[in-house]
Amino acid sequence: MSRHIPIATCSQILEASMIQMELDSAGIDCELDNEFTVGVDPLLANAVGGIKITVAAEDAQRAAQMLEKYYEERARAEAEKARVCPKCKHKNGSPVAKPNWAGIVSVLTLGAFSLFYAWPRYHCPRCKHRWS
Ligand SMILES: [Zn+2]
Repeated sequence: MSRHIPIATCSQILEASMIQMELDSAGIDCELDNEFTVGVDPLLANAVGGIKITVAAEDAQRAAQMLEKYYEERARAEAEKARVCPKCKHKNGSPVAKPNWAGIVSVLTLGAFSLFYAWPRYHCPRCKHRWS
């Protein structure tokens, strides 16, 4: 049996399981370390360094490439989802440019609270709804 080396760390069991399924489907054997500790108490994820995904040393490069593709696809799916209008489900929300004065005014009036104020990031050309 060959040595397993860590290729990624997750803080959530669901994400680790999704990655495990991706690797399994490509025939790459992987193991999850700390899976049960984090599963029992997710707050322990930081204490134990998260769930470590390990693969055999000879599979590491192929697994890392798959992982990169997995994260890219997930980021693209999330970006696409963000552009769908939550009100009318129109799929072509356009990004809203945040004017410089808005940042200055919000810091002057709200101070630190301005950090919690979400500027709408998209607007819907169909129903004019704005969301972030
Ligand atoms: Zn809309």
